[in-house]
Amino acid sequence: MTDRTGDRETTATEVDVAALQRSWSRIDDDVNGVACFRGQAAELATAARHNGQPRVAELAMMIEVMCDPVAEGEEPVTREFASIIDNYLKALQQVGEADATGGETSPQEHASHDEVYLLADQRLTDAQDIRRQLAHFGYQVTTVADHDVLMREMQRAIPLAVVIDHDHVADGVALDDIPGPLRQTGGENLPIVMVSSRGDMATRLQAARAGIQVYLVKPFSPHDLIDQLEQFAPATPPEPLNILLVEDSRTQAMHFSDILEGAGMQVYVEADPLQVLNALEERAIDLILMDMYMPHCNGHELARVVRQVPRYASIPIVFLSSETKVERQLDAMSRGGDDFLTKPIEAAHLIRSVTIRAERARTLRSLMVTDNLTGLLNHTRIKEELENEVSRTRRRGGQLAFIMLDIDRFKSINDTHGHPVGDMVIRSLARLLQQRLRRSDAIGRYGGEEFAVIMPDTSREQAASVIDGIRRSFASLSHDGAGGSFSVTFSAGVAGFPAQTTPDGLTAAADAALYRAKNQGRNCIIEA
Ligand code: GH3
Ligand code: MG
Ligand code: MG
Ligand code: MG
Repeated sequence: MTDRTGDRETTATEVDVAALQRSWSRIDDDVNGVACFRGQAAELATAARHNGQPRVAELAMMIEVMCDPVAEGEEPVTREFASIIDNYLKALQQVGEADATGGETSPQEHASHDEVYLLADQRLTDAQDIRRQLAHFGYQVTTVADHDVLMREMQRAIPLAVVIDHDHVADGVALDDIPGPLRQTGGENLPIVMVSSRGDMATRLQAARAGIQVYLVKPFSPHDLIDQLEQFAPATPPEPLNILLVEDSRTQAMHFSDILEGAGMQVYVEADPLQVLNALEERAIDLILMDMYMPHCNGHELARVVRQVPRYASIPIVFLSSETKVERQLDAMSRGGDDFLTKPIEAAHLIRSVTIRAERARTLRSLMVTDNLTGLLNHTRIKEELENEVSRTRRRGGQLAFIMLDIDRFKSINDTHGHPVGDMVIRSLARLLQQRLRRSDAIGRYGGEEFAVIMPDTSREQAASVIDGIRRSFASLSHDGAGGSFSVTFSAGVAGFPAQTTPDGLTAAADAALYRAKNQGRNCIIEA
């Protein structure tokens, strides 16, 4: 699919994705524009299906379906509609790129997402400092001495970004000449960061003209560099929407789940309404699609039961039924159901109704559950998460670790350097935890400078060792304060299931262990 000799040839699908993006950017609230855009999406879906690119086909089909009511003039172009389409286009671009470089490819085509090349004099302490701090945040740094070595590394693998110390660039090499060869190997969008002791306008302008995206003037904080690199990290593809389908008829269940899974959603079928609370505990569900008439209890009653649990209050419920009487529908909605779809239902209509409500709920939820300063789960959410994990582990067997972390002598950091610097320290610990823990671990900001971590399928000993590694990294980070740089430590207490079998037991045990860690001199991890 691609040309190995250098310039990458674009595949047919890539062209179509780009064309689709262009026509989307030209649409302004105009029905004909949307209709034409929908047509292009439909063509792309067909082409991708023939090309054997099912994910591209799925996403293009979703765009097509989402455009229907707008293209038909039934609904206006809303902000929500625009942002849903934006998201699908973004996902489409990522998937398209992955397809284009997928399969057996030459090594240069593989971008490495945590590798950074640093062109600098590695004997100098600034270079060593940058390297060390980036390593703490999980980046792999290869320091290269000159341009030739850099180009050789580029042949081996394409990094996330190239960082160039301007002061180390050989005499006679003009700034404008640097990006060209790098991008010939690394692609047009290869991020290039320049660090320099020169902050004058002329040099900055020259760098900007040469296409260098980031320019940092020395001395800069390693956090500034990490902030910049983070924005280059590839976005993680959106997780598929998780739909719980409660339907007692096997044929109906298969019919609906085929439609929704064809649109890229993950569908979990539950035939027994009495099992719905268990199913909700099992995984994060974005929307419940519920049959109205089932044995044991009907949809109305089931919705009421779900709404009785506060943490499920915001999950949208959509009823599916052959019930057409309007009064019955209104009744269903007034009892906590959010929408009512009538069987038989057209596939596109089902996909659209489910997607819009599930995406909306997911957005609201992410706003509600995260802490503003750090983006971690907030206190309420991490406690709920602990309850879910404990019951999950109890049912399935296995172990679980719960950790409480508290920054040492934080009050004196605020007193010495001011509250904003204190906030920065909190954020850097949050980021370190996010970078170093697994995606399946839950991380929350428990209070001011206290954090809580849940590690499923992990023993107390394993958890203590992982957290201890993070403790060492955190202690060696340097933070910038008004009067120079300083370092900070944290202490932690680790509790485990099944030694403790309840959320309260785990919390109390972790807290007691943390208290002991503080008493033993801080900067250490204690197991309950
Ligand atoms: P110890 O080692 O015993 O934990 O000492 P400490 O000073 O960290 O403990 P203490 O709990 O007494 O102090 C915590 C301080 O954290 C008090 C509060 O002013 C500060 N703090 C709480 N939330 C925030 C925040 O969001 N930002 C900043 N900058 N400071 C905060
Ligand atoms: Mg039924
Ligand atoms: Mg505290
Ligand atoms: Mg503290």
